[in-house]
Amino acid sequence: MFGMNYDLNETSIRIYNSYSKSVELFEPSESEMVKTYVCGPTVYDYTHAGHGRTYVVFDALRRYFNLRGYNVYFIVNITDIDDKIINRANSEGRDWTSVVDEFTRDYMDVISKLNIKVDLHPRVSSHINEIIEFISVLIERDYAYVTKSGNVYFNVDKYPDYGSLSGKRDKVLWSQEEEFLSEKRNPYDFALWKAAKPGEPWWPSPWGRGRPGWHIECSVMSSKYLGSTIDIHGGGSDLLFPHHENERAQSESFFGKRPWVKYWVHIGLLTIRGDKMSKSLGNIVALRESFKKWKPEVHRVFYLSLHYRKPQDYSDEALEQANAFYERLVGTVNILKKLSKEAVEQHYMNDNDLRTLREVMDTRRKFHEALSNDFNTAKALSAVHELTAIVYRELQYNPKYTLVWKAYQLLKEYNVVLGVLDKYFEEVPEEMKNVIDDLLKVIVDVRKELRQRKLYDLADSIRSELEKRGVRLMDKGLETTWIIER
Ligand code: AMP
Ligand code: ZN
Repeated sequence: MFGMNYDLNETSIRIYNSYSKSVELFEPSESEMVKTYVCGPTVYDYTHAGHGRTYVVFDALRRYFNLRGYNVYFIVNITDIDDKIINRANSEGRDWTSVVDEFTRDYMDVISKLNIKVDLHPRVSSHINEIIEFISVLIERDYAYVTKSGNVYFNVDKYPDYGSLSGKRDKVLWSQEEEFLSEKRNPYDFALWKAAKPGEPWWPSPWGRGRPGWHIECSVMSSKYLGSTIDIHGGGSDLLFPHHENERAQSESFFGKRPWVKYWVHIGLLTIRGDKMSKSLGNIVALRESFKKWKPEVHRVFYLSLHYRKPQDYSDEALEQANAFYERLVGTVNILKKLSKEAVEQHYMNDNDLRTLREVMDTRRKFHEALSNDFNTAKALSAVHELTAIVYRELQYNPKYTLVWKAYQLLKEYNVVLGVLDKYFEEVPEEMKNVIDDLLKVIVDVRKELRQRKLYDLADSIRSELEKRGVRLMDKGLETTWIIER
């Protein structure tokens, strides 16, 4: 297929499925709807740069599906009941709900800064009744058992496909929740419901006071909102075992059919100096801190600069590089905006113009081929880089309207997935433009008056305040014009 005639509809989407361990053709269960569920945060600490990678990649994937004409229903759960939350609350002498509130607020703030759009954030604490019903069915069908202490466990022996998602075939590798070995039928059974210990939050249930185990929430909340089949289910690759293995065992036993999930998608872990970034290793970089140094947009570019399945190391050098790329994107959009005002509409395109047009259009083929082939954002970014290179190298000096317009439209399309230049592409309504122009005229007139009265420090401070907001003033004698740069 050659650049000029590239037809997006002919490019099918392929994605790696952790279950089959191969890249598969993507076909959602309902033709135009992609039902996506991503395991979200346990809100007992600040959202860190590792979480950011997983959420940004799934957000970019959602945007890509949107660009390809699908509707996406994107759910990220919030685990607001968990041992870690209770431990933190107890050790700080706080109520568990205050821990949950503090870190849910931090998470919401971070994902909004990262320009991540999630349709629904269901919380465990609002789904206790549904969880109890789900567990009751599993017990009724003999997939789960209740112990004397009021705990309920999933009986892994009843689910023959256990281990095939994570690739752990040997039962010896399945052992989990070892503190309960004495009362479990097998070391690999896992808790669906935990009896309350003193000082812990609890809810009444047919098995006594208690709270849900970790894995059951995702089976219950995903089916409540997405039905019995999910198209994409994922999280970081740390969740393959035991969390996703357990979710799968519960859900497929409950629904009595397979597959519960069409495509299992796992994001490579973010490391720092080679170790997994995690609270338990004490090496986390909270995003609220990292944002003080690098803009959220720079973090997005950083996360997307590598294939999502590879491990990625967080470092100043890597973010510095992402920053340079981001600045280049901003530079490109600003040049294109400026050129589109100046460029004259010309219908004549010489051979050189046509070659440049082909190069511009060919970046689109590369961009989409990369993303449609297992969502290779690293390759897609190099196609975007090629477009910026053409703008810097050629269009700056040859601002033919067709070329400038095409490059601008393509950058806008690429940004649908990247999500880092939204404010540059926002259309300001015509009447607002007039209001802004009128206001700037008033400010410039007042500043002229100040300069005439030799109040230069005030005039300068107006200039620098406007500059911080993306408005550059240019003086010629006492007359001033302006450019809005953002
Ligand atoms: P947690 O709050 O640790 O349960 O994690 C919430 C989400 O972030 C899950 O999907 C995890 O798999 C993901 N996650 C946690 N740590 C990392 C990391 N270092 N790199 C990538 N994803 C992570
Ligand atoms: Zn989950």
